[in-house]
Amino acid sequence: MIHSIFNRFVITIIPLLPLSFVRMIARRYVAGESSQEAFRIVQRLNKNGYSVTLDILGEHSKNKPEAQSITNEYSDLYENIHNQNLDCNISIKPTHIGLDIGKDVARANLITLLNKAHETSNFLRIDMESSKVTDTTLDLYNEFKKQYPEVGTVLQAYLYRSENDLKMLSADDNCNFRLCKGIYRESAKIAIQKRREINYNFLKLLRYAFDNNIYVAIATHNLELLKKIYNIIDELKIPTEKFEFQVLYGVPMSGWLEKHIENGYKVRVYVPYGKDWYAYSIRRLKENPDIAGYILKDIFRK
Ligand SMILES: Cc1cc2nc3c(=O)[nH]c(=O)nc-3n(C[C@H](O)[C@H](O)[C@H](O)COP(=O)(O)OP(=O)(O)OC[C@H]3O[C@@H](n4cnc5c(N)ncnc54)[C@H](O)[C@@H]3O)c2cc1C
Repeated sequence: MIHSIFNRFVITIIPLLPLSFVRMIARRYVAGESSQEAFRIVQRLNKNGYSVTLDILGEHSKNKPEAQSITNEYSDLYENIHNQNLDCNISIKPTHIGLDIGKDVARANLITLLNKAHETSNFLRIDMESSKVTDTTLDLYNEFKKQYPEVGTVLQAYLYRSENDLKMLSADDNCNFRLCKGIYRESAKIAIQKRREINYNFLKLLRYAFDNNIYVAIATHNLELLKKIYNIIDELKIPTEKFEFQVLYGVPMSGWLEKHIENGYKVRVYVPYGKDWYAYSIRRLKENPDIAGYILKDIFRK
């Protein structure tokens, strides 16, 4: 009750939030405006034993030149990662490389990036956006998966459809997906709304992936869920090369990242950067007002 009042309050005051508050959100979760700043963070994380996935902030490119310029920027990232020998791959949003303009635009840019990933022995993760583009995103993934083993996608545990999507993906021996809960606001017709039920579905999908020998990137900050995930890994004796843990840059993890590393588990940090930090932070707040609560909690904890 208090939680939903707080969320409604945050959504109402978003247009009035001072720039300094939004900058505070951005500073904690965004690696900077330039790729140089982002690379400094990648180097530091690699040095401490963490793998990284880089994301250029932004979504919903409005025209072909915009989508092309983002694709070029991503291509340069692959070159730089290769030249600097970093443990870092890339995550892209389909609408950022042109999906809103047309599927053919996104497809052409995706091919450019997949070729680049292949040339530089790297990997491309296609992030999952709102349910408006789930079908098209999975279509693109399926279209290229056979030709480019270095591509992976994402499934969201809050969507009822994800169980079937995972079954469909598992037909491919080389399937590699990120499992997360989902960050967009979706209707009750298509998405589970209760947190406990989303957690339940998350574990169900994870078990399915493990049982079917599918590589899974386990993306959650939820510590209770992590305890249950550890139990499943122990129970099923899952080899460490069949999964990795993923977290968003800047989210406090109460010692769990170090614990993952001590256990010999791979941890990948999702590091976003770019000029779009203001719009990104505002969108994240609108999509998930809880973030404002996390920031306030953090401030008071300090
Ligand atoms: C690496 C990674 C990639 C992701 N990719 C996608 C994607 O492609 N598509 C998609 O829809 N969603 C994506 N998400 C977001 C995900 O779907 C969830 O919305 C988000 O992770 C919150 O769920 P949770 O399981 O982490 O934990 P929750 O139970 O929601 O939160 C647990 C705790 O984590 C902290 N926390 C969680 N999220 C944040 C945040 N954003 N900022 C600050 N603190 C936070 C809070 O302290 C909270 O109490 C991704 C998440 C991660 C970690």
